Amino acid sequence: MTSRKASILLIYTGGTIGMKQDPVDGTLKPFDFEHILSEVPELHKFALKIDSYTFDPLIDSSDVQPGLWQEIAGLIGRKYDRYDGFVVLHGTDTMAYSASAVSFMLENLEKPVVFTGSQLPIGALRTDGRENLISAVEIASAKDADGRPMVPEVCIFFDYTLLRGCRSTKVSSENFSAFSSPNCPPLAEAGISIRYNGGVIRRPAPGNAGLIVHKELDTRVSILKLHPGLTPEVARYFLLSPEIRAVILETYGSGNAPGTGWFPALVREADRAGKLIVNVTQCLSGSVDMDLYSTGKVLKEAGVVSGYDSTTEAMLAKLFYILALASRKEDARKLLEENLRGEISK
Ligand code: ASP
Repeated sequence: MTSRKASILLIYTGGTIGMKQDPVDGTLKPFDFEHILSEVPELHKFALKIDSYTFDPLIDSSDVQPGLWQEIAGLIGRKYDRYDGFVVLHGTDTMAYSASAVSFMLENLEKPVVFTGSQLPIGALRTDGRENLISAVEIASAKDADGRPMVPEVCIFFDYTLLRGCRSTKVSSENFSAFSSPNCPPLAEAGISIRYNGGVIRRPAPGNAGLIVHKELDTRVSILKLHPGLTPEVARYFLLSPEIRAVILETYGSGNAPGTGWFPALVREADRAGKLIVNVTQCLSGSVDMDLYSTGKVLKEAGVVSGYDSTTEAMLAKLFYILALASRKEDARKLLEENLRGEISK
């Protein structure tokens, strides 16, 4: 009896990995998928069936909009039964946003969805793209002794490290180690072999309803980063614009903000006006704790919800997702406080 070859769908959206220098203006521009394949002949050595899907147009990920996430999630939903895993080639600039969004949009995921890309184009001599792509394919097809996918999560593979997508953030524009998930250990590390961190990898509950693709997103969210010198006029715009349903406050340290004067009064006004306001820290690691300082407590008393140790990228994606599910603020708030995809340590 011959066993079926495992199969992977490579989804190419653009990004540096597939870019070439434009001979006219010297800038890097996306190039076709055949170019990537010709640079990585090693892919043929896998005993895998590897199909590809190329987005049109290919983009620099700075041009990503939520519509691309809907296309990626929809494509994975349509092809879900035909493949053992998915690899998404994506620019690094917004990869953490896209991986976060797709992780919320794919509920009960039981197969790997591995985002990867590179800092240097695949045709460059010292490219990191070849290694990233080969390992991403290996991880997307990896099964445990019982034949279950090793990592049934949306994740980012970069520089020998596999991170949970909705925990990741881009931390360097020039190091090969471009991503980090400071509040969550890596899901796997690639050395001579790939070592999976079974204690961290999440699995859907047995007997779950199967994959649900949530394509609806409500993008009426603003992000207000606190800084000394912030004026009431600017803060009012971010907190109280009529077209906004939710606000991410990027606060100081463990979730602190100016404790006196116009700021807390404005936050209270926004809460009374029905805005859902969530607190995430500007710090790279650590969590919001609004009970630690009076400058945090004042936000809690004004109705602000803790974002715990969420990244801003994951919080934005989570709000887009839950605002589309819940039209009432109280329902959205309940979902916000839940750990839905491993995006918070709670
Ligand atoms: N600007 C590029 C992009 O995000 C950067 C990269 O891929 O590394 O598409």
